[in-house]
Amino acid sequence: MADAKRPLPNPNEYDTREFWAATKEQKLVYQQCDHCGTVVFHPRRHCTGCLGNALSWREAAGTGTVYTFSVVRQSYHPFFRAQVPYAVAWIDLDEGPRILSNIIGVADPAKDVAIGQRVTVVWEPHEDLSIPLFRPA
Ligand SMILES: [Zn+2]
Repeated sequence: MADAKRPLPNPNEYDTREFWAATKEQKLVYQQCDHCGTVVFHPRRHCTGCLGNALSWREAAGTGTVYTFSVVRQSYHPFFRAQVPYAVAWIDLDEGPRILSNIIGVADPAKDVAIGQRVTVVWEPHEDLSIPLFRPA
């Protein structure tokens, strides 16, 4: 079980392929509407503010704040079973997007992760993409 592999997203999915291509370069990107300025995340083909389709890609600095989190203590998937306990968190990036990820690099996620905590991205590289994870800043 120690060699179980993380399940990975499809890097060629129509709406998110630009996002995953950027992760390969360890860039965290999001979309912003050219018409109304709405920050759009997760990636998609239309603006969630005005329904227009003029979206531009922007690069986030990779820093943010924990909006909320939960600690996973049990998993039936071989990869995640080897990771427990671990924190799953919604992170508000400084540019506005809210991203779901893990908080890593803490001894005890139940004690060392907190709402409002500052975090920064760390990358887990794979062949076709990198997974954005976060650690305390
Ligand atoms: Zn818009």
